[in-house]
This record gives sequence, structure tokens and C-alpha cells, in this order.
Amino acid sequence: MTVPFLDLRAQRRSLAPELDAVIAEVLEEARFIGGPRVDAFESAFAEYLGAPHCVGVGNGTDALEIALEALELERGSEILVPALGFIASSEAVTRTGHRVVFCDCEPDLYTASAQDVARRISPRTAAIMAVHLYGQPCDMAALLALARAHGLKLIEDCAQAHGAEYHGRKLGTFGDVAAFSFYPGKNLGAYGDAGAIITRDGALAQRCRMIANHGRVEKYDHRFEGRNSRLDTLQAAVLSVKLPHLDEWNHRRRRAAERYVHRLAGCGGVVLPRVRAGAQHAHHLFVIQADRRDELQRALRDRGIETGVHYPLALSQLEAYAYLGQGGEELLAHRLSSRVLSLPMGEHLSDGDVDEVAEAVRLFYESARP
Ligand SMILES: *Cc1c(COP(=O)(O)O)cnc(C)c1O
Repeated sequence: MTVPFLDLRAQRRSLAPELDAVIAEVLEEARFIGGPRVDAFESAFAEYLGAPHCVGVGNGTDALEIALEALELERGSEILVPALGFIASSEAVTRTGHRVVFCDCEPDLYTASAQDVARRISPRTAAIMAVHLYGQPCDMAALLALARAHGLKLIEDCAQAHGAEYHGRKLGTFGDVAAFSFYPGKNLGAYGDAGAIITRDGALAQRCRMIANHGRVEKYDHRFEGRNSRLDTLQAAVLSVKLPHLDEWNHRRRRAAERYVHRLAGCGGVVLPRVRAGAQHAHHLFVIQADRRDELQRALRDRGIETGVHYPLALSQLEAYAYLGQGGEELLAHRLSSRVLSLPMGEHLSDGDVDEVAEAVRLFYESARP
């Protein structure tokens, strides 16, 4: 038996009649940019989150970049970004003319350490990027308190956290602005690139919408230079079909995560992930810390079990950020990058799949004993 890391084909099969119908309708309508289907998805996603404004854009990276640009922070400001994560979060900072300052993460929760964030706030700091990594909600109480105390903006990177909650409220509604990605493999994925910006601030939403569409308010009425990053009609239609299933899919992910924890409890060589108190995790990824990680990954692969590493290097260790000089810092994020292993996770997993993966992990450590 093999266990795939994720199974987009199975998800499509479960919704094939609806998806095929809606795709055929869009092709027949021959309206591929904007229109009521994009408006409808934006409204549905905003309502799902409990947020007043949603602006569909081309992808999650653009969502971060446009959101940052719309905040109109002073050029060259410092923005705190967790060192453990994906480059899109820090890229957006640099590409909008600001300076990345990497901060460390919390042990076994993996999101930004508020203590380390506090330590790195300087007179030039303008914002904190709260990345809900792996679907784990950040310590929003602590980060919001820091933002308030120092007059900083808070940007949420929700690319891995669709539907996750913190004390009963959906992520994406805490910061000044939030970015979502609908990359195909995310908890809510399109059939190509897509993304969205969420905010409470109507003026900010309008600025984002204008930046994403050539700075225009109406056709050929351009108030400033923007860019082209729009949510395709076809992607909006696909997302509208999928959105009503997100909670059920997340529920299945949660069950799989709980089963992993149960089955792997006490397994030597492994540190299991925790869920923050008061939080509802989205379980985009199920990440363990593993002794002899690469060997374990190979052993699992030999048994047909696909795993991933998120991420093999902390952002601060990447060549792209050598100029910041943080690669040599003593960070937990640096140590974790050689220990993290993502086990298969998604709504496709059966109890049997989870048991098989857990058993294979146990076997690896037990058979390795002298
Ligand atoms: C996927 C991802 C992004 C970027 O989203 P794209 O749609 O691929 O551009 C940003 N941040 C995080 C944490 C991600 O996982």
C-alpha cells in the first residue's frame, strides 16, 4: 500500500459533477476576467471568515505584496518575519522596498516567538508578519499587544491556515490585513494560481483592488500605476464550489492529526507537534521533528510513503538573504530545518493510511535500536 502526501485527484473525483458543470458554464459564458463569479467568491470567502472585505488577486505572493504596498509604510522600514517559513513572506517585504528582519520560532508550535519579536523591534520597525505556519495560529494575543504597544502594523500570512481559528475567530481577521493563497495544494486550492487579501479597512481594500488592477477605478481611469494581479473567473468559480467543503476537509485533517499523535505517542526519536491552547489548527501540514530525519524519509519512501521537508533551510540561511547576515545566528529555526519532516496530510487520508505511516515510523526507530 502507498500513502500519497496529498491527493488532488481524489478531491476532484468527489466533486467532479459540480466542478465540471461550473467550468463548462464559465467557458460557455466566455467571461474570463472579473464578473459576478469573482464578486460572488469574494463575498462568500469574506463571509466565511467573518471579514468585511475580500479582494481576489492572482496568487498568495501577490496578495502579500499588494497588501504591504497598500499599507504605505515608510520606505526602508524593517518588517519582522519568522525565519522558519516560505520565501514568499519575506520576498513581499523586500519587493515593496522594506528590510526583512528574521525572528525565531516557538519550539513545537513553530510560529513566531513573541519574545524574540519583542527583542528585535527597533525604531525603524514598521510591521510584524504573522505567518500561521503549517496551519498553526500564531500567538495573536502577544503579537497584537506588541503591535499596539509599538504602533506597528500586523500582516497575517494565512496561506497555510484557511479556516483555522484563534479563540473562536477565524485567522485573517486579526491583523490590519491578511493574505491567502489558493495554490492547488493548500487547504482550499484552485486549479492554478489564485489568492486573496482580507481586511476590515474599506479604504485599504479599495487601494489593494486598485493596485491589483493597474491603479484604476474604472476602465482607463488610472489614478496611479498599479499592476495586473487579478483572480481569474475560472478559478473563482472552482473556489466557490470547493469553499462549502473546506470545514469538512479541515475536520478530516484534524482527525488524521489527532490519530497521528495518538499512534506516535511515546515513539522515541520523534517530537510531535502541539496545537496552541485556544486554537483550531488547520493542519495544512503535519510536521514532526525526527532524529536522523533524512534516513527516516528514505525508509518511508521505500515503503511507498511520501513525505516532505518544510523547510530544508530556514529563510535566514538562504543565499538570497546572505546580505542580512543572520544565517550564522543561533536560532531554533536553524536547528529545526534539519529535523522537520512533514508526514502525509489531507482529507484523503483514511484511518488505515495514518496507522500505516505511524507504524512505519515506529518500526524505523525500533529496528534501529542496538
Ligand atoms: C504558499 C505560500 C505563500 C505563497 O502563495 P502562492 O499562492 O504560492 O504565491 C505565501 N506564504 C506561505 C506561508 C505559503 O505557504
